[in-house]
Amino acid sequence: MHSLLTRAWVEVDLGALLRNGARVVEHTGARLLPMVKADAYGLGATRVACALEELDPWGFGVATVTEGEELRRAGIERPIVVFTPLLIEEFDAARRARLTPTLGSADAIAAWRHSGLPWHLAIDTGMNRAGVSWRDVGSIHTAIASSPPQGVFTHFHSAQLNDGSRRTQEERFAQVLAALPVQPKMVHAENSPAIARHGRDAARQWTVARPGIFLYGVASGEGEEITPDPVVALRARVVDLRVIDVGDTVSYDATYRADSRRRIATLALGYADGYRRALSNIGIVLVRGKRARVVGVVTLPFCRTISTASE
Ligand SMILES: *Cc1c(COP(=O)(O)O)cnc(C)c1O
Repeated sequence: MHSLLTRAWVEVDLGALLRNGARVVEHTGARLLPMVKADAYGLGATRVACALEELDPWGFGVATVTEGEELRRAGIERPIVVFTPLLIEEFDAARRARLTPTLGSADAIAAWRHSGLPWHLAIDTGMNRAGVSWRDVGSIHTAIASSPPQGVFTHFHSAQLNDGSRRTQEERFAQVLAALPVQPKMVHAENSPAIARHGRDAARQWTVARPGIFLYGVASGEGEEITPDPVVALRARVVDLRVIDVGDTVSYDATYRADSRRRIATLALGYADGYRRALSNIGIVLVRGKRARVVGVVTLPFCRTISTASE
């Protein structure tokens, strides 16, 4: 909770987060593998994951071993899948935290095999970031046959666009699945835009859904069959209020010049707090529910560090 001394803060509506998660489950008919990487997109991985427990997700998705360890320390017992390639040197730590790596090379599969723990096979169908290329799956046939993965997945690079790439990637992925020496129990692919724009059909194919940004309240644009409720609010107090005359300017470089008498409010928030300078003269804020334009250049912070010294 914010105190009277708090000048700017972020509110996270965990109820809305849960509604968005439930919407994904309802739309896809699949269990959740919520992506909570990057500290749950900045909202706090532990709090978000603990809240999502209520939806009985299959597991959680992270980007690094450190993130997985943090969830384990918070008491999360479900599978935690690490969705970036691990260095072989990280395997020990991943095993100790009972993390599920995503592997895409024969060497990595052989190295993980000794852990006796599950892993997921990453297939690259066009993102060109991680996983074995759909063209080269033959290179890992032997490794898979002796150490079968629990799941196999791919990742769409442009599911929010109408460029046909999703279909191309699905076809490549289907080709790979048909050629695998063993059929893994789990098959997954969908990120938020893929879920929101194509949920019903996908239900037949995918075992789990991997939403990220949708859970956190960000829509992926036109063509969506489901939309998320807002989850995050950035709030700041008004710390100065003044009326300026025609021709007066606001902030550095005088990029805003008043075309009439204007009332200007100063908010206790700047780019050091994460409110982007790029929003200078284009940002919109709500003042008691009414839209107001950000005028002038966003400055560094307007906040102060309060230090206390004991005697
Ligand atoms: C981040 C990520 C997701 C979730 O993406 P959103 O667009 O935020 O839903 C899904 N799968 C993988 C492999 C990811 O890295």
